[in-house]
Amino acid sequence: MLIYIEKQAKDYPQTEKILKKFKNSKILWIDNYKNIFDKIVAGNISLKPSFIVAKLNSDSITKAPDWYGHNNKQAYFLKTSLNCVFDCSYCFLKWAFKNDIPVYFVNYEDIKKGILNKIKKIPLSQPFSLREKGAEQDYELKLKQNLDYKDKIWFYSSDYSDILWMDNISGFLWEFVDFFEKFDNAMMEIRTKSANIKPILDLWFIPNNTKFAFSLNPQELIDKYEKGTSSLEDRIKAVNILLEKWYKVWLRFLPLLPVKNYKEIYSKFVEYIKKEIDISKISSTFVSGLLYTKNDYNNILKKYPKLDVLYRLKQQDNLFIREPKEMRDFFYNLFSELDKKCFICLDEK
Ligand code: SF4
Repeated sequence: MLIYIEKQAKDYPQTEKILKKFKNSKILWIDNYKNIFDKIVAGNISLKPSFIVAKLNSDSITKAPDWYGHNNKQAYFLKTSLNCVFDCSYCFLKWAFKNDIPVYFVNYEDIKKGILNKIKKIPLSQPFSLREKGAEQDYELKLKQNLDYKDKIWFYSSDYSDILWMDNISGFLWEFVDFFEKFDNAMMEIRTKSANIKPILDLWFIPNNTKFAFSLNPQELIDKYEKGTSSLEDRIKAVNILLEKWYKVWLRFLPLLPVKNYKEIYSKFVEYIKKEIDISKISSTFVSGLLYTKNDYNNILKKYPKLDVLYRLKQQDNLFIREPKEMRDFFYNLFSELDKKCFICLDEK
């Protein structure tokens, strides 16, 4: 196995752990991961590494669109790694980066500082304790300055890669789940198509501020459009193990794909889920169809001109190219039967 490691990432504890874990691997020390990651097109690398270890020098947090997931306007994407080992045909990562080499950022303390600063900057209107040492004064000041934000602040950690799968190398959960427990108002969502729940069980506590959300789709669609991801059966098994151990588990039915016989496939799927999972124990469910901004749609179309589901999407409003209204309504009604409180992402019934 060949691993590229940035020289500036050498002395971080996570790099040491990686080096210990992969002690028989060949290491190539590099100056800057961007020289490879931003410049080399997939397929044109003679010595392609299995992954890259690097230091993130830019902001790890970017604003998520309003109403991206939860019912609030303070939501952020959290970046600690790039690229995904899974191969979902519709995924934006397909065109977001020039190649598919996974990158692990290891300067976790800098990233945590960035999160803390973001939390501190958001005006609050309700009692909120920032139990980070030395941060109370700052918090009191913020509280006096502006008092208009009532809701939780959400951090989505799985938008640049499947963070649960990556955990074997990143040790992300061990570092960040406990960190988020320090805040009363900050929540993290780990969304996954992996059944790798060992890092969750290895935490040895049930977190309040991190939610584990399993994305599910019918197996025949996983086989065709979500290559390499865990099977539906394994994901369901993982969900049920966590439920048995009193973890709070969420289900994400997204993206619901506009395949030819979607009514039949998804109706059977919902019946199957009803049989296999006790929905009354699930903390929340979300649904969403497949959707892109115009720009993203053109990008994926360029990359995958033969991807059939893309041709069943249409420009529906100024914002999105998505499934026709009739199809979306079918999905929303179907999944509302499964869970009356099912949350519809970026759309309404
Ligand atoms: S699992 Fe998520 S991040 Fe990975 S390829 Fe699929 S959609 Fe993209």
